Amino acid sequence: MTLDEFQAALKAQGVPLLHLALVCPRCGVVQSATDLIAAGAGEDFDAVEKYLGFSCVGRFTGAGSPRKAPDGKPCDWTLGGLFSLHKLEVITPDGKHLPLFEVATAQQAQEHMQGTEA
Ligand SMILES: [Zn+2]
Repeated sequence: MTLDEFQAALKAQGVPLLHLALVCPRCGVVQSATDLIAAGAGEDFDAVEKYLGFSCVGRFTGAGSPRKAPDGKPCDWTLGGLFSLHKLEVITPDGKHLPLFEVATAQQAQEHMQGTEA
């Protein structure tokens, strides 16, 4: 997936910026900027954008060490903060695929948004 494809997949979710949803590849938890803000990762979208898709929301909610199997709770996984969304390269020039969070489906994103709205 290229950066353009990644952004197009997010756009296809049809939800506001704050509710664009990614799925942590390790714990399977659907998460958005709204979750990161609620977890104290930052005050607004700009502040948490660098974590979205790279650091599981569990890192900010004090999740424990990784569990052997997904149990529906966020984990503490992170891609290390090496990239910001602005310069994300999902496929590197030498053809390697970076382990980015999966983009949630439109249905997942919309259901998640409804679950996180006050
Ligand atoms: Zn996780």
